[in-house]
Amino acid sequence: MKKLSVVIPCYNEQETIAIYLNEMKKIESELPLAFEYIFINDGSKDDTLLILREIADRYDNVNFISFSRNFGKEAALLAGLKATTGDFVTVMDVDLQDPPGLLPQMYQKIQEGYDIVGTRRSSRTGEPVIRSFFAKKFYQVINQISDTEMVDGARDFRLMTRQVVDAILELNEVNRFSKGIFSWVGFDTYYISFENRERSAGETSWNFWSLFKYSLEGIINFSEAPLTFATLIGLGSCIMSILAMIYFFLDNLVTQNPVPGWPSLVCIILFLGGLQLFCLGIVGKYIGKIFTEVKNRPNYIIKESYFKSEDE
Ligand code: UDP
Ligand code: MG
Repeated sequence: MKKLSVVIPCYNEQETIAIYLNEMKKIESELPLAFEYIFINDGSKDDTLLILREIADRYDNVNFISFSRNFGKEAALLAGLKATTGDFVTVMDVDLQDPPGLLPQMYQKIQEGYDIVGTRRSSRTGEPVIRSFFAKKFYQVINQISDTEMVDGARDFRLMTRQVVDAILELNEVNRFSKGIFSWVGFDTYYISFENRERSAGETSWNFWSLFKYSLEGIINFSEAPLTFATLIGLGSCIMSILAMIYFFLDNLVTQNPVPGWPSLVCIILFLGGLQLFCLGIVGKYIGKIFTEVKNRPNYIIKESYFKSEDE
């Protein structure tokens, strides 16, 4: 029988794990696959780890990895994917916002020949209006400026073949933006739409600021457009100042007018100074990325893990 590995990152999810596993157990019988669960405790501060130890004892297909601190969902996904041994791999949130009920349908599509079956939310109901607005804008911007297509509303929830997972693991960049990486590797992808759901319990670990930083990550990791933008506004302001110089020079010759006052000068100095700092900031962001890449630190540190060996 073929095997499906399920990767589940968990951060402060003590309320949701039991509910999640309960739902998954119902799905297990609907698919002709052996299931292997890999939970990743991403440095939770609640009892997540205790619960993971408990379920790993109780079910023989549950394994877990526990980090030494919170390294973020991207790191958790990476650790989980590395640990998978299945012929197929799926990545799911533990809060049931990725409905397990879709798995049979997704597996069906894989059998039809697709390499990746992704999911996307058909609506963003239940989400704050401002958040939806900025999310939409983000996808518009990133798809304009990046060669890697990112699908609006696409979730990390996806079913992949072994081949795709191996390709994803080949990318060993430190700054990982999964939405981009999943799309960058290519392969035939099919998207299934579903209605957005509320969390089964617990709270989201994202706030507006963290989402904003996350979207900047996406842009900087998958596009060089901001650098081009910085060059262009530098060029633009040069051309404008040359034109202005010519104008003032001629004006002075013809009308003998003195060039008016220092307020205009102050404005120009402040404007150019601002532009320079802004562009330096953009360049600095990329240098920062290079810095973290060359340091080449591991994406996470594992403190404890629990895997059952195959032949037990
Ligand atoms: N998560 C994680 N590390 C983090 C933040 C989140 O592993 O630092 C996990 C979390 O436990 C959940 C998934 O990532 O399984 C999605 O998180 P959440 O539900 O908070 O995000 P949302 O669904 O609101 O985008
Ligand atoms: Mg969620």
